[in-house]
Amino acid sequence: MIKRFWLIGIFGLLIGCHGQKQVKKHNPYFSLTDTTELRLPNSVWKEVLSDGVYTITRERSTEAPYNNEFCDFKAAGNYHCAACGNLLFSSVNKYDSGTGWPSFWQPIQPNRLLFRKDFSEKMERVEVLCKRCGGHLGHLFYDGPAPTRQRYCMNSLALKFMKDSVK
Ligand code: FE
Repeated sequence: MIKRFWLIGIFGLLIGCHGQKQVKKHNPYFSLTDTTELRLPNSVWKEVLSDGVYTITRERSTEAPYNNEFCDFKAAGNYHCAACGNLLFSSVNKYDSGTGWPSFWQPIQPNRLLFRKDFSEKMERVEVLCKRCGGHLGHLFYDGPAPTRQRYCMNSLALKFMKDSVK
């Protein structure tokens, strides 16, 4: 009888672990050097991105505040697009906005980004997208710190942190 409970317990554990496992996919479009613009259908991105990165970048979702990877992250380095590798932000320009999402007061180069008016959620906002792959990254607000007064409110899942990448 006890043995049977053990077996059920182990079986349940295996099912649970399998359900939480993030499948590591190979993404041939991720590059730190290639700046060629990518215009790929979502069906292709679905094959190469993790479910989390796909939901944010291709379905324009927003991750939960606070409980995300880079909200309180303070290491020195650069942030790239999680989908294509495009260099976007530096830790030098990261600050604590208190919003629960990683926030930057300027990008490394604005021309690495695309800006689009977003009227969803009954608000008018500026959506920020990656210029190389067109992936949704977050929004731009104008209540940030000096000198720009800008707040690039990003999704951690849309970013890939690289400690040693070249600016
Ligand atoms: Fe990208």
